[in-house]
Amino acid sequence: MIEALTGKDLIAIRIDVLGVSFDSVTMTEAANKALAFMECRNAAYVVTPNPEIVMLCRDDSCLLSAVNSANLVLPDGIGIIKGAQILGTPLREKIPGIEFAETLFGLMAEKGMTVFLLGAKPGVADAAGLKLSDRFKGLKIVGTNDGYFVNDTPIIDKINETSPDLLLVCLGAPKQELWMQKNAPSLKVGLMAGLGGSMDVFACVAERAPESWRKLNLEWLYRLKEDPRRLGRMMNLPKFGFKVIGKRLFRK
Ligand code: UDP
Repeated sequence: MIEALTGKDLIAIRIDVLGVSFDSVTMTEAANKALAFMECRNAAYVVTPNPEIVMLCRDDSCLLSAVNSANLVLPDGIGIIKGAQILGTPLREKIPGIEFAETLFGLMAEKGMTVFLLGAKPGVADAAGLKLSDRFKGLKIVGTNDGYFVNDTPIIDKINETSPDLLLVCLGAPKQELWMQKNAPSLKVGLMAGLGGSMDVFACVAERAPESWRKLNLEWLYRLKEDPRRLGRMMNLPKFGFKVIGKRLFRK
């Protein structure tokens, strides 16, 4: 049951983790806030940073601005939760982007709300659309586009023709965060959500880690096993850990 939220409810407590301000919310609260943002129809946007993105933000002020300007900043993964704990300012709950989207789709389906799927290789968003409308009866997929376009304008026009409640933006980080911030003023959408590789999972061209790995908080290791090319970017994980511990010990 969704309760109406007032403007005040949309302002959450934010917790700083190495410069990125995370909303301290439960999954239910995050989904409710997302629905309320959709109703405002102001092209609000949600980001789901993991430790890797936090470390990218430290080197890229444009990305940091795009992330911290988001209307909802959700902690995707155990690394952020542990980091916040070590810093002495715990966050309420881990909110994996893909589970956030699934929770939201369930609620949106009940209301017959609309989604536009943007991102991934040609054909993937179409396949994701078919799977999602089969799985979440009532959810309306009103448009799709791959994520390898050159000009924004025709894509924005295509999205605005359908004026969706939710626009999924799966272009990978940092492209999707920068794209959402830059194009929000031109978009007629309720809410955007930057969800990286989720489109591939929804289309079943990539798999999530099995439940047993997820329970052990080893989803990152599973992704590395499946795609060893991720090793370079994953070097940010230990760097994140050292930075958090250093900040805790020396308060710098
Ligand atoms: N992608 C895209 N356009 C681009 C670059 C990437 O649509 O210009 C897609 C890519 O096909 C993949 C997703 O963005 O579906 C990024 O997936 P990845 O697993 O790297 O993202 P993560 O979940 O780790 O942020």
